[in-house]
Amino acid sequence: QLKTEIIAVGTELLLGQIANTNAQWLSEQLSLYGINVYSHAVVGDNLMRVEEIFSQAHQRSDVIIVTGGLGPTEDDMTREAFQRISELDMEEHTPSMKKIEKFYEKQGTEMTPNNRRQARVFQGAQVLQNNAGMAPGMIVSHQNKSWIFLPGVPREMKQMTKDHVIPYLKKLTGEEMIIKSMVLRFIGIGESRLEHELSDIIQAQTNPTIAPLAQNNGVIIRLTAKERSKEKANLLLQRIKEQILSRVGTYFYGIDEESIESKVFSLLKAQKKRIAAAESLTGGMFTEKLISIEGASQVCLGGIVCYDTNVKKNLLGVSSETIKSKGTVSEECAVEMAQNICKKLDAHIGISFTGVAGPEPVEGHDAGTVYIAICTEDGDQRVEKMSFQGGRNTIRKRATLKGFELIFE
Ligand code: ATP
Ligand code: MG
Repeated sequence: QLKTEIIAVGTELLLGQIANTNAQWLSEQLSLYGINVYSHAVVGDNLMRVEEIFSQAHQRSDVIIVTGGLGPTEDDMTREAFQRISELDMEEHTPSMKKIEKFYEKQGTEMTPNNRRQARVFQGAQVLQNNAGMAPGMIVSHQNKSWIFLPGVPREMKQMTKDHVIPYLKKLTGEEMIIKSMVLRFIGIGESRLEHELSDIIQAQTNPTIAPLAQNNGVIIRLTAKERSKEKANLLLQRIKEQILSRVGTYFYGIDEESIESKVFSLLKAQKKRIAAAESLTGGMFTEKLISIEGASQVCLGGIVCYDTNVKKNLLGVSSETIKSKGTVSEECAVEMAQNICKKLDAHIGISFTGVAGPEPVEGHDAGTVYIAICTEDGDQRVEKMSFQGGRNTIRKRATLKGFELIFE
């Protein structure tokens, strides 16, 4: 297994002015081809420090990918630093130089002499043409190590990686391993519970790997398989998926990018049911999520955003009695909201959200206290009281999500 590392050169990265998206993107690409990246490093535009990290990399890695510092200016140190550690001779790459000259000719401006630097390449290097910019990239084999130099500009770096680096690395690794991932999505079960239910499977498993992860829209399990063919990888993933779902399938709602709202949408559509929402603290978020799905009109009638107490009373018809005796943050208010929206919009299902988004308490209830009620045209009703944690908009999002979860159950 080849050890690959990525070094990003640029002081602006260390100053936090830009994020090292080059390393992130490269890692993602390489992982698709089963190439293991062992480390990322970032170094400023300082010759000694670049040189130092290059010599360390030469010791510890087989493939070293460097981005940045190939430009024409004094602060572009990559070539010089590698020249010092490798003592390889440099020469001017004629096609690249011609290209640079042509660029200046076309622009009608005079080329400054430092632009020649960009066309300098190491002797014996495979020169990677830059279709998007001026400085060419390079692949240099030196003492059994592969050094790959790419420009810092993301667009140029990506183009060269796709056109030259990936094919080169594929050849280098000989065997083509591919990595396939699948995300299983769960709701209504916590991360620790999920992990507990699956602990023996998780521990015994190395391919695919199984990684549970809590997210703000439920818990996911990421399965990652490494195989010689797509078909084999898919087979592995399917097998382990079935094993997992035989244990915790009741909480499962989707694969990969599938969302809980799209799941609810399909469910309602299959049952030919239409829903209407009375939304206080969620402010229309529930309805918005449904309507963002194509074909929403088949399941979503609409709703009323009834944030103010008077809107709950006058528009939705929640009784003054309930509001006076129980308050708007109450089971009773939630149920009336859900019943009334169901009737008013002639829906099969009415759902309501009322509670305290925060940060201040309301009617003596802490921020995060939320009631969600679901009523059907046949008179069924259920109401849940929740205590969500988080800031105002986190609470609003969690309430919305919970609404979908309750319908899904
Ligand atoms: P140039 O020929 O443009 O000088 P270069 O190879 O010298 O290219 P740098 O000067 O290091 O590259 O970077 C050029 C620009 O590319 C930076 O201003 C920055 O916006 C972007 N960039 C550089 N490194 C990274 C990185 N690691 N991640 C994301 N963007 C980067
Ligand atoms: Mg530069």
